[in-house]
Order: sequence, then C-alpha cells, then structure tokens
Amino acid sequence: MMYTTVADAAAPLRQIIAGKHHILVISHVNPDGDAIGSVVGLGLALEQQGHQTTWLVPTPVPPFATRMPGAERVQSYSQDQRLPATVDLVILVDTGDVQRITSIWEEQQTYLRARPLIVIDHHVTNSGEGLCNLVDPLSSSTCELIYGLLRAWDVEFTPELATALLFGITTDTQSFRTSNTTPSALRAAADLLEQYADREAIVRDVYHNTPFTYGKLLALALAEMQRAGDVVWTHVSQEMQRITGADDEAGSEVTDYLAGLGEFKASALFKERRDGTVKVSFRSNPPVDVASVAQQWGGGGHRQAAGCTIMQPLSDAEPLVIAALLQAVEGAQR
Ligand code: AMP
Ligand code: MN
Ligand code: MN
Repeated sequence: MMYTTVADAAAPLRQIIAGKHHILVISHVNPDGDAIGSVVGLGLALEQQGHQTTWLVPTPVPPFATRMPGAERVQSYSQDQRLPATVDLVILVDTGDVQRITSIWEEQQTYLRARPLIVIDHHVTNSGEGLCNLVDPLSSSTCELIYGLLRAWDVEFTPELATALLFGITTDTQSFRTSNTTPSALRAAADLLEQYADREAIVRDVYHNTPFTYGKLLALALAEMQRAGDVVWTHVSQEMQRITGADDEAGSEVTDYLAGLGEFKASALFKERRDGTVKVSFRSNPPVDVASVAQQWGGGGHRQAAGCTIMQPLSDAEPLVIAALLQAVEGAQR
C-alpha cells in the first residue's frame, strides 16, 4: 500500500505497529541530519509506546549529529553483525530504496525479507518497497512526516524527541531555505520549539561546528572550480583529503558553497571515494530537475538535491556527468 499523506497513513500504520514487539528502525548510508533525526525521533516515540526498538544505520553517525540526544544509541552496522531474532517489524526511514542501506541490505536480505517492512520517506524517487509506504515528496523532510504521524498518534513530545525532529527539518530544508519549506514545515518547527526542542544546540552542532580541515579542503576544491554555461562544478580527490586531513563528510561544505553561487542553475561536486568510484552531489534551482540526472546512474534524491555513484575514475566521470547536467539545464529552459 502506498500513502502520500500523513492523514491517510496514520491509522493503517498505527494498526500495523500496534501489534509488534520489537521494531528495527533503519536509515540510509552516510546518514544526514534527517536520517539520524528520523531514527531517533521515531525510535524514542515507539519506545514510549511500549515497543522494544533497535536503531541502525549502515555507516557511522556524522560528527555534527553525534551530540543530538539519543544519537549515541544509533548503531553503525558492522560486517556480519547479528540482528536481533526477536524483531517483528522493520521501519525504513528517509531512504528511497533498499539499496541505500548498502551493506545491511547486501548481508541481511534474508532477515529483512522475512519481516514486514514500513517505509516512511520524502524522496521523489522512492520505489515504495514496503508492505506499507508513506512517501510524500512534498514534505520538507522525513522528520516532518514523523512529526505529523506522532501528532496523529497522540504521542507525548519530550524535549529529546522534539530536538531530534527539529534537527532533521532544519538540516533537510537547509535552514528553511529549500522549496519544501512549506507552511506545514514551519508549523511543525514552531510546534517542536514549543515542545522545548533545543534550537540553540542544533544551531551549534550544524552551523558552528566546522572543523579547520574542512576549511582547508574547501579552499583546495574551490581553487579547481570550473564552469560551462549555467553549470558550475569541482571535485574532491582522495589526495586533497589526504593533504588537508579532512574526513569523508567534508565534501558537503563544498556542495553547499557551490549551491550558493547564484549565477548558475545547477552545480555538481565530484567526490573520489577510497575505492576509486565517484560520488556526485547535485544541487539546482527550479525548474532544473537533478533527480532525473542522478537516476541516469542509478542514483536519486529530490528535484533540487540529488546524488549518484559513478563506477569510473574522476577524470572520466566529470565530463560524462557534466554533459548530462548541461543537457538537463538546457531542457528545463525550453
Ligand atoms: P547528497 O548530495 O549526498 O547530499 O544527497 C542529496 C540527496 O540525494 C539526498 O536526499 C540523498 O538521499 C540523495 N542521494 C544521494 N546519493 C544518492 C544515491 N546514490 N542514490 C539515491 N539517492 C541519493
Ligand atoms: Mn537523508
Ligand atoms: Mn530527508
């Protein structure tokens, strides 16, 4: 079943969840603020309702989210980890398809297929693989969807719960700047503040927490910035990471900087991974749809923020992807 609104999904989801004892909540690889906020927010609420819960992501909680209350309980999956046999429901949050939980899906497919799956997400590219799916691409964030569900279920909002959900709404709207910053996203945020969400801690963690090494990496990446037509791009190589000492998350600083260059309609960051593959992060201004560009390489995301992985070296990936991006920009103008 596929629902696109909280109003329609609240009752059937509640019914499925009500009869379950041990719920495994999972989110995507390289979890962002919305992924961690969703796992923590939903996890705390389910616990409050008397369920046993396990919280899991494929790769570690990023440094900027580790101080969120509850984040310390999010487990990072380790190879061949034994998942609890008692789990009788899996809830996948902020994740467009099962491939996005990478190693967990690859190693635990039998385990996961043997249990009912609920999907709660806002990616336009979501393939609806759950027994029951709530996918609303108009929602600012998965945290906003979870907020709506919890309100419909009359859950009590503790400060920790409110902080986790506001964390995801804040980061996924890039501080209330994206096109999904709707009245309902703002109402959710206002309500969460009234429930004592710790706004100050979120601002500190997200915006006043940049490591020195990220600044050094940004400088190197910006020095190699290129432009063609309405598109701007650059790259982050393993060598640049080695020189600066910046970690794998540092690229997001560069992505954000490129997106701020107002004279372009789209931007791309090419990030060389340790295994030699290339992660591309796209950003665009309406009406350019970068989700469809990312999909050409098996990726996905949102119209204005998307990503994919290219199984080719940096020097080959760049011209290939930029050609497709230029085409999308030109297509959007017609
Ligand atoms: P990022 O550039 O990593 O910040 O990602 C931007 C958006 O695209 C996020 O909503 C991601 O969930 C989505 N995204 C990034 N990479 C992929 C991928 N390989 N497949 C599907 N969605 C992706
Ligand atoms: Mn996310
Ligand atoms: Mn999200």
